Amino acid sequence: MKFKPANQIQDLQYFGEFGGVNPSISDSSTYTFLSAKTMFDTFEGNADGCYLYSRHSSPSNLYLGEALAAMEGTETANVAASGMGAITSALLQLCKAGDHIVSSRTIYGGTYAFLKNFAPRLNIATRFVDITKLDVVEAAITKNTKVLYCESVSNPLLEVADIAGLSKIAKKHGLTLIVDNTFSPLSITPTELGADVVIHSLTKFINGSSDTVGGVACGTQDFINSLRSVIDGANMLLGPTMDSLRAASVLKNMRTLHIRIQQHSKNAMFLAKKFEADGFRTVYPGLASHPSHQLYKKMMNPEYGFGGMMTVDVGSLDKANELMELMQKQNLGYLAVSLGFYKTLFSSPGTSTSSEVPEEEQKEMGLTDGLIRFSIGLDNDIERTYEIMKKCMQDVGLLKSERA
Ligand code: PLP
Repeated sequence: MKFKPANQIQDLQYFGEFGGVNPSISDSSTYTFLSAKTMFDTFEGNADGCYLYSRHSSPSNLYLGEALAAMEGTETANVAASGMGAITSALLQLCKAGDHIVSSRTIYGGTYAFLKNFAPRLNIATRFVDITKLDVVEAAITKNTKVLYCESVSNPLLEVADIAGLSKIAKKHGLTLIVDNTFSPLSITPTELGADVVIHSLTKFINGSSDTVGGVACGTQDFINSLRSVIDGANMLLGPTMDSLRAASVLKNMRTLHIRIQQHSKNAMFLAKKFEADGFRTVYPGLASHPSHQLYKKMMNPEYGFGGMMTVDVGSLDKANELMELMQKQNLGYLAVSLGFYKTLFSSPGTSTSSEVPEEEQKEMGLTDGLIRFSIGLDNDIERTYEIMKKCMQDVGLLKSERA
């Protein structure tokens, strides 16, 4: 039977300390031991069920990790204070000085900046490639390569990675395949396609209320133990720890993720079809015109659709800015970075979330000035939204007014 990620989340059962229907929140940074021997054993890593110190783990963080591992079909998971906290810790756990990473060139600007500008300080080099070309990916691997890194659906260009194809290459060369699945939770299950580690910025769709940052790495018990090791674990030693109160609130929001993703996808599909029909260069994996539409279809869990992210090219940065300001004025959404909120969010990636990418490279990868990235919201009446958006496009001269 096909893996059903939302069923996996639903099947978890938690009780609070006093029989509450929500697990109790662990409001402590440190934990007592009945015997000094158990404390020693816990430091050594052999006292299951005992907690040491909340930078290492806490009951609330473990509950959230369990739910995310269930969703991604991994043995376990480690939550972090942000998506970047999860990404940098995972990469630094797997790579040491002299190692090499092959990464997609279209990834979140922060990840790109870390690999391009920060990791080289530690003598970790990265080769950025067009992830959609498997032969190019394989050719970039050197004897020092340890990690193959990509996003299932890339930020901001919405390129789709052939995870099964990449996994074959990773296995052949003994690499760890890390997939950032932030743009496509539930829709794509990277481990079903051979990914080794799955990352999320919980800040986005998974939490869904734009009230916190958070992250997770999902993987094998061995890998997650290594991240938490008191001796040399990147999460334990660099300290990007999520607060327990936050973990509890993210866990509660996760319960509606399947319903939200369906609505985000439904609304995005509707608008993408309309904008394309209006003559805009529209990129959405659900459109037949998307170069990887068939690949996404093959990989997806169909009930969740093609996700809530799309891009529309309006020709120039000035037009993009004019349109976004007007759409915000009309309360169609917010001119803001980030994604996965109930309101539509829009931004111009070249000057915001991907501004870390030099202009020349932006051009090379097809990141044009007039590109607007939309995270489509949960609007109840998307037809009405479209009508108001269309009017905004007419008012800024991007569409002919029907009366004219
Ligand atoms: N991965 C992707 C695909 C993102 O879009 C982002 C943030 O925009 C991140 C990772 C980083 O996550 P955070 O902002 O939670 O650190």
